[in-house]
Amino acid sequence: ALELSSITKGFGGAQVLKGIDLAVRNGEFLSLVGMSGCGKSTLLRIIAGLESPDQGRLMIGGRDVTDVDPADRNLAMVFQSYALYPHMTVRENIATPLRMRRLRMAARLPLVGRLVPGRAAVLRDIDDAVKKAAEVLQIAPLLGRKPGQLSGGQRQRVALARALVRDPAAFLMDEPLSNLDAKLRAHMREELAALHRRLGTTFLYVTHDQVEAMTMSDRIALMEGGQIMQLGTPSELYERPANLTVARFIGTPA
Ligand code: ATP
Ligand code: MG
Repeated sequence: ALELSSITKGFGGAQVLKGIDLAVRNGEFLSLVGMSGCGKSTLLRIIAGLESPDQGRLMIGGRDVTDVDPADRNLAMVFQSYALYPHMTVRENIATPLRMRRLRMAARLPLVGRLVPGRAAVLRDIDDAVKKAAEVLQIAPLLGRKPGQLSGGQRQRVALARALVRDPAAFLMDEPLSNLDAKLRAHMREELAALHRRLGTTFLYVTHDQVEAMTMSDRIALMEGGQIMQLGTPSELYERPANLTVARFIGTPA
């Protein structure tokens, strides 16, 4: 689904990504792990289009999107801080990506956008999609509330619903659970795994948490020194760690 080839990125003099090659399979849950500062978030931001690589190409579903606008990549990014709009209700928060998409399409195709389909039909479709996403994440009763009236876990789910509603080609998640307490994190881990099974969508998931990576992933990519040091299933990394860093992260007995 996602193919990165020879992605490099430097900031100032420092080379953060030194040629990343990675093919994320369709429907796979792939965790990206590694020491703080190794470039995980930078890589995710490049895939999302929030940052451009110095070199290298990115393909999504066989299409080269290296120079494509972030909004046209059909990816949903979920950050550590959920960044909900505080003045909007949960319903409006979840609907926002669909409304923006509608506006973009209308701007590009002024005639078609205004004529077909009718505005009422579009708003109904958006509302249906919002309700469906809210049901999947079990936040339907909260649609009328504002983010300030929600718990951390509920806010997390609103952020996920807002990502889900776009029906993205892949989810990019950057430590989405790290703001939650241990109990809620364990619970959300189960929910995310269930969501992945249910949707069958590709997940690229950045985490510091060894348990998350080991229990949720189809494969794990471990980054070190601006490169991917090892890529494999959790048991492959556990049984045959490529080096000491991998062994330490995975917790393979010495
Ligand atoms: P963490 O696990 O702590 O989140 P990370 O693996 O996500 O770390 P990045 O945020 O990708 O790491 O940062 C990689 C390196 O690039 C760091 O040394 C960071 O200081 C540097 N860096 C990231 N963004 C910028 C920027 N916009 N300008 C300058 N340096 C940056
Ligand atoms: Mg990071």
